[in-house]
Amino acid sequence: MNNQPRIQKKNKKTKLSGFTLFIIEYNGRRVNDGEDTFMKRYEITKAAPKWKELSETRRQHYKDRANRLNVKIVNTYDRYNSIGEKLDEVEIRKRQEEEAKKNRRCEIEQMLKNAADLAELDNTVFYFLSTSKYFDEPNGKIFPAEFAIAKFSLSQGVFDTISFKINAGKLPVGSALEVEEISKKTHNYNIEDCNDPGEKDYFEIMIKIINFLHPFDEIPIFFTEGNDDIFVEKSILAETQKIMKRIFEEVLEFDAARKLKIYSIDELLFYLKNLNVEIEKEINPECQDEPFISIVDANANFRKVSNEYSFNTKGCEFHEKVDALQNCCLAKVRGYGYTIAKWCAINEKYELKPGKHFPESDRIVNDTLLKIYK
Ligand SMILES: [Zn+2]
Repeated sequence: MNNQPRIQKKNKKTKLSGFTLFIIEYNGRRVNDGEDTFMKRYEITKAAPKWKELSETRRQHYKDRANRLNVKIVNTYDRYNSIGEKLDEVEIRKRQEEEAKKNRRCEIEQMLKNAADLAELDNTVFYFLSTSKYFDEPNGKIFPAEFAIAKFSLSQGVFDTISFKINAGKLPVGSALEVEEISKKTHNYNIEDCNDPGEKDYFEIMIKIINFLHPFDEIPIFFTEGNDDIFVEKSILAETQKIMKRIFEEVLEFDAARKLKIYSIDELLFYLKNLNVEIEKEINPECQDEPFISIVDANANFRKVSNEYSFNTKGCEFHEKVDALQNCCLAKVRGYGYTIAKWCAINEKYELKPGKHFPESDRIVNDTLLKIYK
């Protein structure tokens, strides 16, 4: 009885609204884009209209999730984190994620070391992936818009690419506003374009992908930008994983869908650069090149040039026409290759070629670029 007022007060304080959940996710996206972790008050005010612009279904999704979390809060006296998850569960998830992260990083590092031991590192092929979407439903169903993969090796640079627009079919009722908003920010396709033109049949899409990956006898590791922080539900990496999963599941490849490996390119950049520096220093102790100090450092260096490179290379026909290469998946995967080349193809043994190791575009002066490499 004595405790009652205190508990009620506590519950009141921890009660979540749909809007709060929306803001938490919104903030996650900001942080993922390199912004400060803490939102300023005016930034929250700026986010409010976006909440109003959401479709009713979408807002309801946030409200329902908030309610579910609130029920948990009221029914138990456990500790909760800022998004209302029970700390025990969060800690377990965090631990699992840490474990997965460690395994993944070991896997990348080991793969590179094995290749180096066999003197095959220069010719090892890396697969860079980029996707965009029209919309994703609260239940997790995602509607892809564009898709691109590049094959890259240190010796050849970006030597092969595939890209296509995906026909997403009929979009859910009430999604129009959000679809438009996403389009403006990420791919510039018209909503009317959703159905036409574009690759519609997922079997056809899968055949294209398999043909492109041939002669690889198993699905390789794909690298894309973004990180996999468990609290950033909508990071680029998480979305790319969802889109690939959708494509595989549409053709009933459930087992392959589960085993898909789509990792952060920051981790590849970090291990590849550092291994290359290590090898170089063994041969030439005078070598001035320094390794990255951390994956965060690799990420910062990746960001420095990747966007600029994407903007100065060739994109797909559509994005060339509308002059929006920064939003083109094909231009992005090429940009990823150039970025990796800039930091990792450092030795003079690499014969750097425009369009393969750095942008071919005359939008920036290639002389300046060449100087960066010398
Ligand atoms: Zn494009």
